Amino acid sequence: MRKKIIAGNWKMNKTPREAAEFAAKLKNKVKNSGHDVVFCVPAVCILPVADILMGTDVAVGAQNMHWEDSGAFTGEISAKMLKDAGASYVVIGHSERREYFGETDAGVNKKAVKAIAEGLTPIICVGETLEQRWENRTIGLVRRQVGVAYKGVSAGDAQKTVVAYEPIWAIGTGVTATSAQAEEVCAAIRAMLCELYGDPVSQQIRIQYGGSVSEKNASELFRMPNIDGGLVGGASLKMDFEKIVFF
Ligand code: PEP
Repeated sequence: MRKKIIAGNWKMNKTPREAAEFAAKLKNKVKNSGHDVVFCVPAVCILPVADILMGTDVAVGAQNMHWEDSGAFTGEISAKMLKDAGASYVVIGHSERREYFGETDAGVNKKAVKAIAEGLTPIICVGETLEQRWENRTIGLVRRQVGVAYKGVSAGDAQKTVVAYEPIWAIGTGVTATSAQAEEVCAAIRAMLCELYGDPVSQQIRIQYGGSVSEKNASELFRMPNIDGGLVGGASLKMDFEKIVFF
């Protein structure tokens, strides 16, 4: 039985002080849920939020990282730095990073490999545009994204990763994939992982759904056989995130 994982993606919201205040209030609502709960916060908020969450079962995640350890990469942050600041998860290949910052499948792979090597759990995002869905390219696309993301990742390491299926047309739009649509793609992702690593390993890997998850739809989505929780954007910035965590 896979443990559910519900991660909030705060995106570029909240200053360190605001983040600490919000985390201090929210932690009391979402702790001891029996699920893995993660706040994926802006990089400068990792340290204060990790301090606030210390001693709880709520973890901190980052939203991006670089695949090198250190060096002349102005503006970038390494996995080691994130880990040292208190992060244990990192979102990789979010569609906003792919769209606005030119992230590629190959870059996602390098980041995933490095995150694992440094003991961070990568949350690897995949998903299609509306146009790709209309053209019936969804499954082929996510299979390719998963195939490239896991290049060079051993079965033992793959088990430690999380995949987030996030249809781009559902992110921040208020339009959610139906539970059947989300389940179909999450099942296809698991089938791809099974081809790569075999059934026992693919059954261990958690696959989240993301895209306008709310307290109204979380329960139906997260109860689907291949959906192991969610990556939640907008709704993770409200106290009602509690209702999603306790779906
Ligand atoms: C996201 O940021 O990954 C996301 C799914 O956002 P939202 O829940 O707001 O659609």
